[in-house]
Amino acid sequence: MNDVLNILTSYNRAWSPGAQAAATLADVIGYRFLVDRDVSKVAAHLPQKRTLTLSAVGLSEEASDSLIVQEAYERRCIIVTANGEHFKAAMLRFMRVQKRKQCYDLNGLIVLPSGYEHQKRLLQDAQDRLRFGGRRLAWRDVWERDFYVRLKKSGLHEVWRFPPCRYCTEQTVRARR
Ligand SMILES: [Zn+2]
Repeated sequence: MNDVLNILTSYNRAWSPGAQAAATLADVIGYRFLVDRDVSKVAAHLPQKRTLTLSAVGLSEEASDSLIVQEAYERRCIIVTANGEHFKAAMLRFMRVQKRKQCYDLNGLIVLPSGYEHQKRLLQDAQDRLRFGGRRLAWRDVWERDFYVRLKKSGLHEVWRFPPCRYCTEQTVRARR
């Protein structure tokens, strides 16, 4: 199963906006959210069956950012938080360290502003508003292509892709030689 996931992950890495062939890791296991403690209330505004809280995955309320990132990696979840800078740093760090010869790409980060009412409103219409390269971006894309999405009160959301992990970067460099 891991091999299948690795193949699909490499394949999906080659995706660019507009590629219709974009497959389908989501069809295999489905995207999910892991909701950080500081925004746990908004879990109710995400698809219920796809949403995990820290306690649901056996993490304590005091779990460190890096432990949450590790859990999101193992369970292949989009992390949802209001603590964007810390998680961005923790995710970039996670992808740089290579414990084994394997892909350490993650599955996206959604950063919310402070204030429950704002968070709720922005989450509800985010999928209608998110764009990347002129195309709409669904949660599934965020998950599949490891996007950073910062939802802003202004509606001018920040969207970019995390770079590939160290393993994938080295593979690409080797393939080009
Ligand atoms: Zn990788």
